[in-house]
Amino acid sequence: MLNVVIFGAPGSGKGTQSELIIKEFGLDHISTGDVLRAEIKAGSELGKIANDYITKGQLVPDELIINILAKVLDSKKDSKGVIFDGFPRTIPQAEALKKMLNERGTDVTVMINLHVDEDELINRLLERGKKSGRSDDNLETIKSRLDVYHSQTAPLAEYYIKEGKHHAVKGVGTIEEIFGFIKEKIESLRVNP
Ligand code: AMP
Repeated sequence: MLNVVIFGAPGSGKGTQSELIIKEFGLDHISTGDVLRAEIKAGSELGKIANDYITKGQLVPDELIINILAKVLDSKKDSKGVIFDGFPRTIPQAEALKKMLNERGTDVTVMINLHVDEDELINRLLERGKKSGRSDDNLETIKSRLDVYHSQTAPLAEYYIKEGKHHAVKGVGTIEEIFGFIKEKIESLRVNP
């Protein structure tokens, strides 16, 4: 299986690049943010809990999100591979992901870390907020999400460097240019995994 973790701060282009990776490589997509927003829309118990965290720009507790991920992963059993978008976001989530994939006879193939500077991230998220209708694309929540990213999520880069899976990509330029770098990396791994 070709399992790709697409990683970066909020607004770094994870969702946009995921769509292109899926089209090119025929992977399944798991976006924990999308799963949570669908639960909120459906008015489920889980959605109600998640909504409180999301609107404050905080992370949903690890245990909850790891359970959700395990269920979604089981629904993708016959997959050629999965792109993980927005997961993992903490070290315990990365450890849980490794365990879950190992139990299924596979592992993370590569972690693509999209680098975008802070001013650009804020501009992109404010722009997106005009159309997305997302409760967390406003300046106050964006600032909390970026703080959470720096304190809890960014340390995962070290984790994947140690695992020998980390690959940094400049996340600024045209969508196609950025995708070009990602595609090159994934293709090199398919030839020489
Ligand atoms: P995203 O769509 O990936 O930007 O996620 C939106 C929000 O959903 C985040 O700010 C968190 O509140 C929550 N969320 C999504 N994925 C995770 C995760 N892996 N761990 C904890 N919270 C998450």
